[in-house]
Amino acid sequence: MSFRSGRHFLQLPGPTNVPDRVLRAMSRPIMDHRSDAFAEMTLGLLRDLGHVFGDPEHVFLFPSSASGCWEAALTNTLSPGDRVLVFDNGFFAAKWATIAARLGLDAEVIEGDWRHPVDAEQIAARLGEDTDRTLRAVLMVHNETSTGVTSDVTRVRTAIDDSDHPALLMVDAVSSLGATAFRHRDWGVDVTVSGSQKGLMLPPGLGLCAASPKALEASRSATSPRAYWDWDESRRFNERGFFPYTPATSLLYGLVESLAMLGEEGLDQVFARHARLAETTRRAVAGWGLENYCADPSAASNSGTTVRMPEGFDSDAFRLAVLDRVDMSLGTGLGALKGEVFRIGHLGDLNELMLMGALAGVELGLKATGVPYRPGGLQDAMDYLVGS
Ligand SMILES: *Cc1c(COP(=O)(O)O)cnc(C)c1O
Repeated sequence: MSFRSGRHFLQLPGPTNVPDRVLRAMSRPIMDHRSDAFAEMTLGLLRDLGHVFGDPEHVFLFPSSASGCWEAALTNTLSPGDRVLVFDNGFFAAKWATIAARLGLDAEVIEGDWRHPVDAEQIAARLGEDTDRTLRAVLMVHNETSTGVTSDVTRVRTAIDDSDHPALLMVDAVSSLGATAFRHRDWGVDVTVSGSQKGLMLPPGLGLCAASPKALEASRSATSPRAYWDWDESRRFNERGFFPYTPATSLLYGLVESLAMLGEEGLDQVFARHARLAETTRRAVAGWGLENYCADPSAASNSGTTVRMPEGFDSDAFRLAVLDRVDMSLGTGLGALKGEVFRIGHLGDLNELMLMGALAGVELGLKATGVPYRPGGLQDAMDYLVGS
């Protein structure tokens, strides 16, 4: 590959830019993970993480991708053959259902519309029919990163409560945590799954899993085989600031720093910044005359925008052209959306000028590749930023 000057633009809805502060923190020498200094770091980390998740009973950390915590969530709380209800409104929701089935659970899928959020009424109707109460958990994705659609967790909680159903509520907040408000305890979530490489601004490699008292209670009788992912063992070690295996120490250094950054900015300001940059992106997309894949404006994601490619144009060819021309990575269309959409990530360590650079790169790419668009998206984005 030829020499590239300047900085690569990593404009994916995860992994996201790792701030220099975090990179520097991660370059520290490895410490003894059985030392007092390590324990002190871990205890502080778990406390600060609890704040970011919205006060769950406990947050578990594993050296894994976020998908690992899909598995941890299921095996710690359920038993082989247990039935779970999954609302499929995107690539990641569908994948979580597949993982559940592979683990020997009976995954019942409600086929949703990928352009819309989770429909709590359909969940309520299904729970109402479950008179024997055999469904043990409801699984949903808070922010569907494949489609750029955010769902309302509280509506699903209300659907479960109104049905007076004992099912656990499990939420994938991989691309919403640290970008969009998430309140584990207030919203009555039982298990929240997340990962390091999105709103938490870290490299990939840490899986996070938050549990409610009810989820911890369920873990005492759940019989799914689990060893590495076992919460009980983790928790006993965590209470003293340790892990039952060699932790990903460098990622933990990075996490201390990224949590400090979120704290310095203030979570409410972090969410407001994401909302503002997301709206800026949507103005640009609309200004170009392109279509946001999310068909419900009130559910448009603050983490990433999925853009439909005009008929007859391949989004991967477009992405490759943008990479080649301006050294920017845009997100690919996942699963059934391959070739049909591209995704602009706007979460993590990002400011107005970085986003404007990214949007300029998209507009330049549209022009350079002959994709039909209206000039002016960039102007609309700028007008919004200046006026708001
Ligand atoms: C990225 C993502 C995942 C998967 O995370 P991995 O770290 O790749 O395992 C799961 N769910 C959502 C919503 C995501 O955005």
